[in-house]
Amino acid sequence: MTVSASTQRGRIGAYALHAKYDSRQLTAPARAAFMSRWDKEVDPHGLLSEEERFKRAEAAKRAHFLRLAYLSAKKRRSRGRQNGSKVSTRLRWQVLERDHFRCQYCGRSGETVDLVVDHMIPVSRGGLATLENLCTACSDCNAGKADEELSDG
Ligand SMILES: [Zn+2]
Repeated sequence: MTVSASTQRGRIGAYALHAKYDSRQLTAPARAAFMSRWDKEVDPHGLLSEEERFKRAEAAKRAHFLRLAYLSAKKRRSRGRQNGSKVSTRLRWQVLERDHFRCQYCGRSGETVDLVVDHMIPVSRGGLATLENLCTACSDCNAGKADEELSDG
């Protein structure tokens, strides 16, 4: 099942459930359990008033999610730096020149062949945009290759 299909199915399930029941009532136990985590964090010995505890728990929850959002943004940024799966124009030319403008899979070259620069280890498997991981391919071979790794590469 694809991701979108499972999402779709989940959505249908949720709607069907909400059509029958009050969703706030359905999620109340989960929400209460979730909040009690923050209640415990801000008031581990139960010394605060209900109002004060609620206020502090809300603040703790907000701080927690802000921290998470910050961390994930930071991770995304550093991944982007290291990953470098995008092929720059300069690198593309280096690869084409090294391969003498010839498809490395079928050997075709010339004006009529549409050449692309291909990742030998696909980006989806962590392949990088480096001279070692790139090779020249015609669009036909590249399309047929899809996400398969080059066996003799
Ligand atoms: Zn080819």
